[in-house]
Amino acid sequence: MIKEVICIMCPLGCNLRAEVKGQGITDVEGNKCKKGIEYAKNEIFSPGRILTTTVRTNLGEVRLLPVRSSKEIPKDRLMACMAEISKHQVSGPVRIGGVIISNILGLGVDIVACRSAPYRLPGIVS
Ligand code: SF4
Repeated sequence: MIKEVICIMCPLGCNLRAEVKGQGITDVEGNKCKKGIEYAKNEIFSPGRILTTTVRTNLGEVRLLPVRSSKEIPKDRLMACMAEISKHQVSGPVRIGGVIISNILGLGVDIVACRSAPYRLPGIVS
């Protein structure tokens, strides 16, 4: 069986054609570098994505803190992770890269802050 995927590992976006037999890939065409072979394998057998979203806060002016997953999350668990993240609220100052949710849903992936957010009382300008 032939599966077609577009490699997103770099801006070239190669159109990959992978020949799939059982639980393996016997050939990949269309890749301009070796990364495409690994990408095709992952995308066909265990696709994952970096999750980017926001978490509510009570940090004064920063009402929504942008966050991302520290590693790719399996595509079929993304919605469950979004539901879990929606239950959280950040209540203290955070630094960029700080862990907001550790080991979300036991996936071995942390949800980390994409920016720092100091606490400021509403109406007070520093
Ligand atoms: S196969 Fe290589 S060159 Fe092509 S998009 Fe993927 S990383 Fe880029």
